[in-house]
Amino acid sequence: MHEPRSFRVEAVVLRHAEWGEADRLLTLYTRERGKLRALAKGARKVRSRKAGHLEPFTRVTLQLAKGRDLPLVTQADTRQAYLPLRADLVKTAVASYVVELLDRFTYEEESESTAIFRLLAETLERIAQEADPYLAIRYYEMRLLDALGFRPHLFECANCGEKILPVDQYFSPSQGGVLCPRCGSGLPGAWEVSVEALKYLRHFQRSSYPEAQRARLAAGTRKEIEALMQAYLTYLLERGLNTPEFIRRIQGDMK
Ligand SMILES: [Zn+2]
Repeated sequence: MHEPRSFRVEAVVLRHAEWGEADRLLTLYTRERGKLRALAKGARKVRSRKAGHLEPFTRVTLQLAKGRDLPLVTQADTRQAYLPLRADLVKTAVASYVVELLDRFTYEEESESTAIFRLLAETLERIAQEADPYLAIRYYEMRLLDALGFRPHLFECANCGEKILPVDQYFSPSQGGVLCPRCGSGLPGAWEVSVEALKYLRHFQRSSYPEAQRARLAAGTRKEIEALMQAYLTYLLERGLNTPEFIRRIQGDMK
């Protein structure tokens, strides 16, 4: 495909790094091209016009020019700064988790990205606005797994295919979902999952966000669901991407 010399993207800045004397290397998630790296020349100079727009979590419109190695930022306009994500340490940690999860699960130059871009932007907005980010995070994890092709089986046993009944079950990260008591009992690596936790996991998987928001989870169920999602995400990341420390580190940050 012929590459145009200059193109426009809508993006969320996932992270940035210093590059050379005064430049900044940006890792972006774009609506148009998925994950993308770009160079902002002179972004670290004190009075750089572009610098303020290129902080992590910021949603921007960028004009990019084809560079020798990486695209160069020639123009940056902030669409949404999500300021509460910078003002509140818990929100900062949660937003960091959200962008890192996406960063670890995606590769550059993947094509389909509109759904993931929208999910990312909506999730950052929810975390910025809501007092308790718990639901926004769990909903994001579930939807991201969907978008990436790792949707967990929650309605039929991931092993034998039997319909899952409303009793306590098991969850197996390696089998990709819930197991019936017959398949899960005594299986190494299978977690027990309560009826209550399973009910909400299913709810998050098939409901809109406003519907999911109506969930009123008991403290124990919140912990159970979080631990279960972390176990599944950790399993996928370790297997596929060799980043074993990532989730544990973030969990440590969020305590
Ligand atoms: Zn089974």
